[in-house]
Amino acid sequence: MTTTRYGRRAPETADRAPNWRDTAACLGQAALFLPRRDTGPEYVASMVAAKKVCEHCPVQQACLDEAMATERADTENARAGVRGGLTPQERAARYSRQRRRVPEPPTLLDQYLRRTEPLHDGHVRWTVATKSVAFQDRQYTAAQLAWALGTRREPEGALRTTCGMAGCVAVEHLSDEAMRNSARRYRRWKAAA
Ligand code: SF4
Ligand SMILES: [Zn+2]
Repeated sequence: MTTTRYGRRAPETADRAPNWRDTAACLGQAALFLPRRDTGPEYVASMVAAKKVCEHCPVQQACLDEAMATERADTENARAGVRGGLTPQERAARYSRQRRRVPEPPTLLDQYLRRTEPLHDGHVRWTVATKSVAFQDRQYTAAQLAWALGTRREPEGALRTTCGMAGCVAVEHLSDEAMRNSARRYRRWKAAA
């Protein structure tokens, strides 16, 4: 039986009327969206991976609207896992801003999406003349911005594109020195095996 992050039955097996969950990008990935632990590196990695799935979800807005309408700030379990592309902490911040009627600030992802255009084969083009972006007291180059979104860690050494397209800023087409060293070590190990 296929389940969404909510653990509900997938449409083909469910005895109910169709709704927006039928096209959820998280179908079959409940474990990723509801990790057992709620701290530590594995938890963070699963949150990042889940958010990536949400980025391409056709019903992200409906999902977030439901989360915001039904969750309560004082019920711990109701805010487990990523919903509508936001972690529990991000949703808590959103509740708080809504209560104070503070407008949503643009996110790092907004900054990236405003300045990029997806191309064939997963490449991404930087579309504006300005080569860097200021965000929360910090300056990002296009590659650093993509890297920050994809890894949530500081790059070690220079960032390079790995796909052969000059200037590509696809999150998956970038590597830092640490990744390249690790790939080199793996190739040496394979060659010696
Ligand atoms: S936005 Fe994320 S959590 Fe919500 S239905 Fe889509 S993939 Fe699932
Ligand atoms: Zn590329």
